[in-house]
Amino acid sequence: MGMYDIVVIGGGPAGLTAGLYASRGGSRSLLVERGAFGGQMINARAVENYPGFPNGIAGIELGSLMQEQASRHGLQTLFAEVTQLVPGPRHGIVTTDGTLEARTIVIAAGSQYRQLNVPGEVQFTGRGVSYCAACDGFFFRDQDVAVVGGGDTAVSDALELSQYASKVYLIHRRDQLRAGQVLVQRAAAEPKIEVIWNSVVEEVEGEQMVNALKVRNVRSDKVHALKVAGVFVAIGVVPNSQPFAGVLETDDAGSIVVDQELATSVPGIFAAGDIRQKSPRQIASAVGDGVTATMSALRYLQMQT
Ligand code: NAP
Repeated sequence: MGMYDIVVIGGGPAGLTAGLYASRGGSRSLLVERGAFGGQMINARAVENYPGFPNGIAGIELGSLMQEQASRHGLQTLFAEVTQLVPGPRHGIVTTDGTLEARTIVIAAGSQYRQLNVPGEVQFTGRGVSYCAACDGFFFRDQDVAVVGGGDTAVSDALELSQYASKVYLIHRRDQLRAGQVLVQRAAAEPKIEVIWNSVVEEVEGEQMVNALKVRNVRSDKVHALKVAGVFVAIGVVPNSQPFAGVLETDDAGSIVVDQELATSVPGIFAAGDIRQKSPRQIASAVGDGVTATMSALRYLQMQT
């Protein structure tokens, strides 16, 4: 397969921006994506904090606009999964569709939802277990649901679900939410939301669909059944760094370690967006990362010639 100046891995906001800057910068570039363009933002019904869209924009639409813009500037794409990196003077990128060679690489492979890893979770995924309130909340009109987690995602999911559900239990493992004050205050003012503190889900139960959760209070150790029709898991994300972990330095959470120029531990390989260490995990910051990483890659290419 081909030899490229820059190969971008991942087609979310960081990768599509990297691809735009790489192709517009005149380099021979290719973006490799394993699924759909847009990354995690395609699950957001309304993105309200991405500058330039005062009335908000659907994540799926924003992703498709980013892809259209990059391809107008000549970005080529390949639909395949990257399984391995082989660093060298010309880095090898092993994909499910063959091996590519690149002088530089921008890794923007994002992250995926962290799972509870309890019995019933996999069995009932799509049948009451969800990781996306914006996608599935609508199905739980006038029913009782639970959200697991205490961060911004969990609290904003609980607020979103309170528009449809009759009751929203927010199950958090500690006695204090991690989410920002504005969200916490909004949730406290919403009568449909009840926080179940110091508690973890031990099992998801049901027949055809979810009908209850086994919830354990971590202080008293008491277990009780909570009757709900759905559970939204919002306990953070895990970086998609498995194919790169043996090659590049990663931290304990699996995020790729980078410097201020988003250079990884291997010269010529850069990381952008949710997959890199200390990412703010916002669409706007991922876009900024795509720019930074690609400009670093273009500088690196110039220094090599
Ligand atoms: P997060 O901030 O990492 O929070 C994850 C939450 O899940 C924490 O409360 C954590 O508990 C809990 N948790 C983790 N593992 C767990 C487990 N195995 N069992 C039970 N609970 C578990 O993730 P996030 O809420 O997805 O937010 C990620 C980033 O996106 C943050 O930077 C956030 O600010 C940003 N974000 C912003 C907005 C916004 O509206 N501005 C919306 C969504 C996300 P502990 O608190 O005990 O660690």
